[in-house]
Amino acid sequence: MAAPFRKSQNAGWFRFYLGDFECTVVWDGYIHHGYEGIFPNADPQEMGRLQHDWHLPSDHIPMDLNPVVVNTGEKLILVDTGMGRTSTMFGNTMGRMLENMRASGIEPEEIDVVLMTHLHPDHSFGLINPDGSATFANADLYVTRTDWNEWANEANLTRNDFKAPWSEGTLAAVAPYRQRLHFVTPGKEVLPGIVAFSVAGHSSGQCAYIFESRGEKVVFTGDVAHHQIYDPAHPEWFFHMDYDSDPEMGAAAKSAIFAKAVDEGIRFHGYHFPYPGLGDMVRRPDGTYRFHPQTMNPRLYPSGQEG
Ligand SMILES: [Zn+2]
Repeated sequence: MAAPFRKSQNAGWFRFYLGDFECTVVWDGYIHHGYEGIFPNADPQEMGRLQHDWHLPSDHIPMDLNPVVVNTGEKLILVDTGMGRTSTMFGNTMGRMLENMRASGIEPEEIDVVLMTHLHPDHSFGLINPDGSATFANADLYVTRTDWNEWANEANLTRNDFKAPWSEGTLAAVAPYRQRLHFVTPGKEVLPGIVAFSVAGHSSGQCAYIFESRGEKVVFTGDVAHHQIYDPAHPEWFFHMDYDSDPEMGAAAKSAIFAKAVDEGIRFHGYHFPYPGLGDMVRRPDGTYRFHPQTMNPRLYPSGQEG
């Protein structure tokens, strides 16, 4: 008898160690974004060459959503919250973070801190449940003041562009956290072992978070880069003239974070890169970059406790 096709997928969760920190990527799903408006200053021939060489789909750009939980031993910290289940404005292939978090053994009530790279919908809407209550009942919320002022901004509600619905959702998402809000200062330590690094441009206050334990470092980069092939090959390409608050600044931030990751030996995590989004950025002889993804790693020992 033929068994039925299951037609479902579970990328689930992915665990790795950074020194003494236990990190878990909790997959929220994916966006299939059309090419319209994406990389507006790209040379079409070069984009075609990359599509051909890397067998990339020509009708859409796949973008996974990869929030990460880090247990420092002191705090349980979530970096970005996925799309949540309050909106399907980007499709219905997202909103799976909570089931994957629970499957990994982590309950949302255990989260102490939520660090936001920025407040766009696919990063912030997961802050709340469909009834508007806080997904993370015991967590403090951290974001840059610049991003807060740009997106948690009621003046946006009267605009006639995408910023109105994006801000409407963000205002609802941050509402339960207003009494436990902390502003992050780029360049400064956020919490022990965690430094914020400005990658502003895609949003006005976007920042990356560099975690360090026992000399090992990883950077969670949010949306400074959206694609694992195009962005490293062409850091000078703008992402989008509307979605980016400052496309030119966004491209400069991309070059800067790639260089920093390479020069300082920092592992690279791209929120929208293919699950789990973790790997190494490598500099090529011509000064461009290449992303080497890390796949399944059976090494689950804190630093110094191998074997
Ligand atoms: Zn995003």
